[in-house]
Amino acid sequence: MRNLFLGTGTKQWGCACLAKILLFVSIVIRCESNLLHAQATLSVGWKAGFSKESITPTEPMWMSGYAGRTAPAQEAETELWAKASVLENAHGIRAVLVTLDLVGIDRQMSQEICNRITSLHKIPREAIVLSVSHTHCGPVVGSTLSTMYALDATQQSRVASYSRNLIDRIEQAVTQAAQRVEPVTLAWGIGSAGFAVNRRANIEAEVPAKRAAGIALAGPVNHDVPVLTARREDGSLCGIIFGYACHATTLSYQKWCGDYPGFASSDLESTHPGSVAMFFAGCGADQNPLPRKTVELAKEYGLQLADAVERVIDLPMITLAPEFQAIYHEIDLAFVKVPSREECEFDMKSQDRFLASRARGFLADLDGGISIPATYPYPIGIWRLGKSLEIVSLGGEVVVDYSRTIQEAISDRRAPQRSSQTENIADGSMLGSDVWVMGYANDVMAYIPSLRVLNEGGYEGASAMVYYGRPSPWAADVEERILTEVVRQSDHLKSQSSQLLKQ
Ligand SMILES: [Zn+2]
Repeated sequence: MRNLFLGTGTKQWGCACLAKILLFVSIVIRCESNLLHAQATLSVGWKAGFSKESITPTEPMWMSGYAGRTAPAQEAETELWAKASVLENAHGIRAVLVTLDLVGIDRQMSQEICNRITSLHKIPREAIVLSVSHTHCGPVVGSTLSTMYALDATQQSRVASYSRNLIDRIEQAVTQAAQRVEPVTLAWGIGSAGFAVNRRANIEAEVPAKRAAGIALAGPVNHDVPVLTARREDGSLCGIIFGYACHATTLSYQKWCGDYPGFASSDLESTHPGSVAMFFAGCGADQNPLPRKTVELAKEYGLQLADAVERVIDLPMITLAPEFQAIYHEIDLAFVKVPSREECEFDMKSQDRFLASRARGFLADLDGGISIPATYPYPIGIWRLGKSLEIVSLGGEVVVDYSRTIQEAISDRRAPQRSSQTENIADGSMLGSDVWVMGYANDVMAYIPSLRVLNEGGYEGASAMVYYGRPSPWAADVEERILTEVVRQSDHLKSQSSQLLKQ
């Protein structure tokens, strides 16, 4: 029964008569949620299961995220985790979210993980989201940022072996979460935490003094803390999914550590025994936690984030009807130019080892008959939970502008329907957008600048592309193409949902 489950635009599930049955079930559920208290809806409502597996390296490995490291890490400050949640709606349709304490995973690994989940659990691609916290105290995995490191044969073999193992661990986490599925109430809310600073618009060393003097910091930020909770029938929490738009770069030392998202998650799990807390990174590619560089600060930011989540949990939250839709599609995002063989040969002689390393990779490909790609298959998806919550998942390191432009684009288009489709909002409901944007999702192939940041250039707009081994900055239509696809997907989900209601 997959009528509420929408595919990639060309792929759809189900048939008209099933749709009518689901419509009836859906109407019953809506009536119940209006008339009865939450407990009574549980038997026909959401189910969810959560699980986590340690992915802390067990042998010395190179750390990801910074080019300046000179030796592998051997010690752990905290465990690194792969966490999984399996959500099941009133019709038995399942979705999987996986969060990882890693800088990023590449497309090949993402595809392999999703293929395994699909074949083992019969969950289609659009219902799977993989998300990394982007901690810079995690290991090098797969080919992500491979231009940044000069790994010897031992390290290369450890990365390969860790990467294979990681996929097994993720599979175990998902299987365990699927086995733990139990009746829950899902609810959401938005909190706030203020430690993210726009790193392009502020000088790092000046931030503490400006804050102390009450001087406003420059540049756009998004301090929202979106929170989704799964509560058991006895009222206890079994899962807390929460996000924040800020680089996990408080720390840059030689120990494995989940950075502030890891500390926030462990704080929440200790406060709510029996729960799994899952962090997802928002559009924080141009945001840093400032000041930084000490474990105490990472713990402090973790505490601030956990407190923001607790404040949301303590208030009445917005209960989600047990309805779920998903869509996923990859668009071909163009690079502004592709270097010629001659340009690669020139770069290979550069004193800049990163430029030379990228050129070496391109030349090896060209020699093997593989041309340098002019585009990248960029992953975009949306989950629609309940009647209005939309979680947009974007690949790569997405800058903060997208959280606002996507929220505005989707909210503007659905404003007329909003009043008739309002969720079951408890007394004293909080304000906040019901469009969440998750960055660093599915695969992390590059920075994703807005047109503003692309035009400004700098690290996020241009130069970081070298570390990611991409041929050049993105073409000028990068933001427009992404926004157009997000709006198309959102409209598609809404049209399918309203078609079902009309039948
Ligand atoms: Zn980054």
